Amino acid sequence: MKILVINCGSSSLKYQLIDMENEEVLAKGLVERIGIEGARIKHETIGKDKKTIETPMQDHKKALELVMDSLTNAEYGAIASLDEIGAVGHRVVHGGEDFADSVIIDEKVLKAIEDNVEIAPLHNPPNIMGIKACEKLLPNVKQVAVFDTAFHQTMPEASYIYALPYEYYEKYKVRRYGFHGTSHKYITNRAAEMLGKDVNEVNLITCHLGNGSSICAVENGKSIDTSMGFTPLEGLAMGTRSGDLDPAIIPFIMEKEKLDPAEMNNVLNKKSGVLGISGVSSDFRDLESASEENNHRASLALDIFEKRVRGYIGSYMTELDDVDAIIFTAGVGENSIEMRESICEGLKIFGVEIDKERNNVRGEDKVISSDNSKIKVLVVPTNEELMIARDTQQLVEK
Ligand code: ADP
Repeated sequence: MKILVINCGSSSLKYQLIDMENEEVLAKGLVERIGIEGARIKHETIGKDKKTIETPMQDHKKALELVMDSLTNAEYGAIASLDEIGAVGHRVVHGGEDFADSVIIDEKVLKAIEDNVEIAPLHNPPNIMGIKACEKLLPNVKQVAVFDTAFHQTMPEASYIYALPYEYYEKYKVRRYGFHGTSHKYITNRAAEMLGKDVNEVNLITCHLGNGSSICAVENGKSIDTSMGFTPLEGLAMGTRSGDLDPAIIPFIMEKEKLDPAEMNNVLNKKSGVLGISGVSSDFRDLESASEENNHRASLALDIFEKRVRGYIGSYMTELDDVDAIIFTAGVGENSIEMRESICEGLKIFGVEIDKERNNVRGEDKVISSDNSKIKVLVVPTNEELMIARDTQQLVEK
C-alpha cells in the first residue's frame, strides 16, 4: 500500500509518499508561503530531478491540488494516478484528552479535533484545513489522524495536573498534554529493537532535541512524563521558546514593556530560548561557531540548554525504577557531537559514560556509551512521517 503523509502548518505543507511494502519514500516535498506572495512547491520524486514551481496558492486546498499534480506528473511524478494512494495520514498537533491513539477520521473525529482548537489555536486549524482539502480531492480514500499528544495520554495524573486551582483543569482543560509524541513513540520502538527488548518492557529517557525540544520518561514502552506541557512552550530552553520560567515574570514584563497577552506570547515563543539569550541565532550550528569564537552569550545559551536537558534527565531518573537507555534524536540530538558529550559529562553520577569515538557520529542509529556505562546511550534518528504511515496502514488494514 502507498500512503500519503501530510503535515500542514499555517502557511506550509510537508508531504511524503511512502510505499509500505518496503517502507521506502517514493516522493516528498514542501509547499511554502500558502496564501502569501511567492508561494512555491518543492517536489522530489526519489531518483528523479527535483522540481520547484512558483505559483499563487490561495489556500491549503490549492496547495494540495498541486501536490497531487506533482505526484502524478508524467515527467517528475511518482505514480500514474491518484488511485494508487491507499490512505492518507495526517499529523494533527492536539488531540486533547479525546485521543490516546491514532484514529480513522470521520465526522465525529473531525468535530473533536475542531473542539480542541480552543486549546491549540495556532496548530489545529491548519491541520483541519489539510484534512478537509484531502476529503475533497480524494473522496474515496481513508484518512487517519495521528496526534502529537496521543503517546503522552498514558501519563498519570501526578504528571499532568498543574499546581493551580483544580477547577481550571475541569473548566478549561488546563493540564499537561505533551507533544512530539509521534517522535518519542518512533524512537521508543526503534530503541527497543536496538536493545533487543520487547517494547512493552523497555524503560527509556528519550530526548528530542531540535528547534523545538522535549524529553520523555518512558516506562514499559509508555510515556509517564514529558517536559512540554499545556502547549509546546514548557520545559527545555529551545531555539526561540523560553521553556520553564518563574510565571511571575510574565505579568511583570507585560507591565514594564506594555505588552498585551498575544505580544507576550510572541516574545515567549519566538524571541526567547537560545536566540533570546545569545542574540546570535536559534540555530545550534551558529551558536557552536560563535562560542568557539569566544562569544560569551552564545556559550551561555549552550550551557543553559545543556543544563536544562541534564536537569530533566536527572528528574526522570527518579521517576523510573531503572533506565535501559537515554536516547538522543532530532536535529541537535542526532547531529551535535559536542552537545551530546557535554550533556552526558554531567550524568556521571548515574554511571553514564559516553565513548568519545562512538559518539563521533551524525544521523545514524548507534550505541554511543562505553561498555562500562551503567545506562546505555543511543543516537536514533527520528522518522515521524514513517510513524504516521505505519499507524495509518495499521488502522486502514484492520
Ligand atoms: P524542527 O523542530 O524544526 O523539526 P530539527 O529537528 O530539524 O528541528 O532540528 C533543527 C536544529 O538542529 C537546528 O537548530 C540546528 O541548529 C540543529 N542542527 C542540525 N544539524 C546540526 C549539527 N550538525 N550540529 C548542531 N546542531 C545541528
